[in-house]
Amino acid sequence: MTPPSMFDNLAALDAADSLRGKRALFHIPDGLTYLDGNSLGCLPLSAQKRGNQVIGGEWGDGLIRSWLAADWLTLSQRVGDRIGRLIGSAAGQIVAGDSTSINLHKMLHSALDLRPNRSTILTDQGNFPTDLYIIDGVAKQRGKWVRKLPPSEILASINETVAVIVLTHVDYKSAAIYDMEEITAQAHANGALVIWDLAHTAGAVPCDLDRCQVDFAIGCGYKYLNGGPGAPAFLYVARSHQSHARQPLQGWFGHKTPFDFSSAFDPAAGIVRFLCGTPSVIALSVLDGALDVFEGVEMAALREKSDSMVAEFLTLYDTYLEPEGFVLISERDSRRRGSHVAFSHRNGYEIMRALADRGVIGDFRAPDVLRFGFAPLYNQFSEIGVLVASILEIMHSGAWKQPDYAVRQAIT
Ligand SMILES: *Cc1c(COP(=O)(O)O)cnc(C)c1O
Repeated sequence: MTPPSMFDNLAALDAADSLRGKRALFHIPDGLTYLDGNSLGCLPLSAQKRGNQVIGGEWGDGLIRSWLAADWLTLSQRVGDRIGRLIGSAAGQIVAGDSTSINLHKMLHSALDLRPNRSTILTDQGNFPTDLYIIDGVAKQRGKWVRKLPPSEILASINETVAVIVLTHVDYKSAAIYDMEEITAQAHANGALVIWDLAHTAGAVPCDLDRCQVDFAIGCGYKYLNGGPGAPAFLYVARSHQSHARQPLQGWFGHKTPFDFSSAFDPAAGIVRFLCGTPSVIALSVLDGALDVFEGVEMAALREKSDSMVAEFLTLYDTYLEPEGFVLISERDSRRRGSHVAFSHRNGYEIMRALADRGVIGDFRAPDVLRFGFAPLYNQFSEIGVLVASILEIMHSGAWKQPDYAVRQAIT
């Protein structure tokens, strides 16, 4: 059914892979083909080690002394700067903390404050739901109008009524990529600001926030950054906005001198004013440890491997899967696609359940989308063969028809 040559080719690609040594930096469960690093990245051994250290040593033994001894006070900035290297930000413009949703709320208020006389927030109608919910909520608080458009209409709809444009750089479903430079330039030409969501970008797809002159950005710590479930997110504010931008959640960690315990809020200089309360030190430390796996790795090398993984997958997809009734959703042109692929099938949910029972993990997005992420630091080309062969076996045997696969679980 699947010619062995398919696997020979993939094994050869693994042997020639310049990043192949990186897989050993992760805990990968035996027998698991994990293609969901775009939802929850695998555990880096360095994150586990750092977690043990912060819990046992810094918290257990150091207790409150660790605020200074382990420099917990600047952890949000230090982790932010490490993320910055992966997304083209010079130091001092990123802090890690809170969730992506909360950070979007903060950035949206900051941006609207800078464009008080404009009425509109422009976004993609297919943006990730939490982004749409936060945008709608802030628009209601601020009396703004939200324009939700298909991607093809965004660029031409940027005009002088737009205060801020909120877009996800790599679409969570299709993996389609927006041209960050073009849209940011068009926004600025019309006096508007941009907020980019980098949830599916950071750690997988290169981007250059400083060079594109991006105003604000946000992103997740638990996807390609491998910071663990619910890991702290991050936010970016361009240095040029930092002295005059404010954010709505003015808590004591954003204060100039929090330990003066003064009763009036006076924002810290720089990126620190975008913090709110006491950071989650354990989670931030684990994320800090997780980022070790990116040391010495160039984003271009990650991108190159991820592109060739998707290309290999698509070759097999065309030969073996397309005839089984799957419909490709992702872009074929690698310049316009991130590090995951999505395709649909009427029985997508049942097929994904059957795959999970065979140790092949991707995820399902309603109504009928199967999504598989290629995390170039730890995924191998041979896993693509396992994925395709497993789908074929499930289709040919009819294994997906098992009745309990049709019962929806709470998390897909
Ligand atoms: C995963 C994801 C989020 C998640 O937000 P949380 O606040 O971390 O739950 C937000 N936006 C996009 C585009 C995502 O893909």
